[in-house]
Amino acid sequence: MNLERFTIDSIKQGLMSKQFSDVELLTEYFKRINKYDMHIKSFITLCEEESLKKAKEVDEKIAKGEKLGFLEGVPVSIKDNICTNTIKTTCASKMLNDFIPPYDASVVKKLKESGAVIVGKTNMDEFAMGSSTENSSFFKTKNPWDIDRVPGGSSGGAASSTAAGFVPLAYGSDTGGSIRQPASFCGVVGIKPTYGLVSRYGLIAFGSSLDQIGPLAGTVKDCALGLEAVQGSDTKDSTSIKEEYCINYLNTIEDGIKGLKIGIPKEFLSEDLNKEIKSKVSESIKALEKLGVEIEEFSLPITETGLSAYYIVSSAEASSNLGRYDGVRYGYRTDKFEDYKELILKTRTEGFGDEAKRRIMIGTYVLSSGYYDAYYKKAMIYRQKVKKLFKDAFSKYDVIVSPTSPILPFKIGEKTNNPLDMYLADTLTVNVNLAGIPALSMPCGFSKSKLPIGIQFMADHFNEEKIFRTAYTLEQELKVDNVPQMKLEVK
Ligand code: GLN
Repeated sequence: MNLERFTIDSIKQGLMSKQFSDVELLTEYFKRINKYDMHIKSFITLCEEESLKKAKEVDEKIAKGEKLGFLEGVPVSIKDNICTNTIKTTCASKMLNDFIPPYDASVVKKLKESGAVIVGKTNMDEFAMGSSTENSSFFKTKNPWDIDRVPGGSSGGAASSTAAGFVPLAYGSDTGGSIRQPASFCGVVGIKPTYGLVSRYGLIAFGSSLDQIGPLAGTVKDCALGLEAVQGSDTKDSTSIKEEYCINYLNTIEDGIKGLKIGIPKEFLSEDLNKEIKSKVSESIKALEKLGVEIEEFSLPITETGLSAYYIVSSAEASSNLGRYDGVRYGYRTDKFEDYKELILKTRTEGFGDEAKRRIMIGTYVLSSGYYDAYYKKAMIYRQKVKKLFKDAFSKYDVIVSPTSPILPFKIGEKTNNPLDMYLADTLTVNVNLAGIPALSMPCGFSKSKLPIGIQFMADHFNEEKIFRTAYTLEQELKVDNVPQMKLEVK
């Protein structure tokens, strides 16, 4: 079995034609995980026993000729900030070290109903704050293309689990780029859907007005399937959308892109961009032109201010969302304390890592009465401007293209002492979340040192269909070999 790039379709066909059973399939996946994950460290929790039990049920269903679910028997990984009933959900934080949710996130419920097999929970930056997965309280995840480098973040475990062939499909979350940037760093496909398309019920909140759950996979089609499986309205999330916005993406994915108008925001291809990234993305743009789209460069002056606005808004929301971890209700509690005040102070001092504390402090500061107008209010006004600029752009263009990240996957430890430098890595992804629009990252080539390079497609709200069609067409044209030849022996 070639697990590195087993597509969902090939799994379904293999199961239906009895080429292999689901138990055999899961056994093979776990063999691979048990052999390599000690080097990559994608997973915080593995569910081997439960997965094999579920696989057995799938095999029985197939044997009896019962109706199969949308993802019947397909192994998936879930980021550890998405609640799973009876499976530990830590958010990669000491604060939730032993937290076992008594319920499933709506996404997990849907996945279970569709027959997917949950293989395990993936590592991440604590509370999804970071761009490298180095902020996990437990351990650092490695990039399967070069284990001295970061896999991106915060969904670094999700992206590496897909790239390393531990699962064909992973679910992550994206508040400012946390699906797209690690997808780009690990050479896989990942989409942040339109805000509201996927229920946030059971996603541990970071920036509630920005957070979205989305899939990561080896191919564009699998990413589209992964989104279809979890999208839809949900009475448990008041920001979730009406069912009529949910489209079957596979119906049109092969229809081609002739006649589409694609905009290239020149600020997203600035001088600061890594030369190799610029050249690969430019090659892809040329390829798209050959495939029949009309390309036009335009100005979208939002990269720098958008980054500041994002860090103000997301930290403000985080400071409020993280207020619930007080040592009283659930989660970590300090050992010794004299009174209530000390209980909270010590619990939060000991339970949160540095980055979470930094965000809480920034957020509290920008919301404080003295500075609210100078920071939070300004950022919110700017957010409206970003939305409007995107709306105007989408009145002219079907899809907007840019690189996903301005830099290549960096060395572990390279940016940990300079948080600002780390924040700068998010310039090309955060505006999408401020506007609530969908955006996908897919591999478009490699640097000379064989590090993956990602290209990003953005579209207007609920235009995921155009994104998938464009990405799929480009994928067929480029045929990027995104299977890492893993040299996983530890140095
Ligand atoms: N890197 C960004 C941050 O640290 C985005 C994180 C995310 O999307 N969850 O805020």
